[in-house]
Amino acid sequence: MTVDHIGIAVSSIEESAAFYAKALGLKLAHREETPGHGVRVAFLGAPGEKAMIELLEPADEDGPIAKFLRSRGPGLHHLAFAASGIEAEMSRIAGLGVTPIDRTPRPGSRRTRVCFLHPKDCGGVLVELVEHRIAPPSTWTS
Ligand code: ZN
Repeated sequence: MTVDHIGIAVSSIEESAAFYAKALGLKLAHREETPGHGVRVAFLGAPGEKAMIELLEPADEDGPIAKFLRSRGPGLHHLAFAASGIEAEMSRIAGLGVTPIDRTPRPGSRRTRVCFLHPKDCGGVLVELVEHRIAPPSTWTS
């Protein structure tokens, strides 16, 4: 599998996106509020690079990102890998004794289906599997 994106918990997408643009030349490719998940996301990319940075900002005080920021502060939240055939990958990985947080894939941002794997089985890192339903627009990588 290849790295799809790296998720970073931030208190402000505006401030963080400005930093990544100024310091590292990353461009905003996509913004979305995931309904019912208490989070707003923005994807940033570099020209020619498929792996993106996902900035996760709390949309409400009870959501998972708000809780993450309160307990750990801003920083690395998860590492996401592109999976084609997500159900097959989930079952293969579960067969290795890795605990899936999601029993079945659920809708993610950018018209994807996602599932998360428990950090306790992934070296302390929250791992996300991402299946793109459609190919990301070419503008994301140009
Ligand atoms: Zn993600």
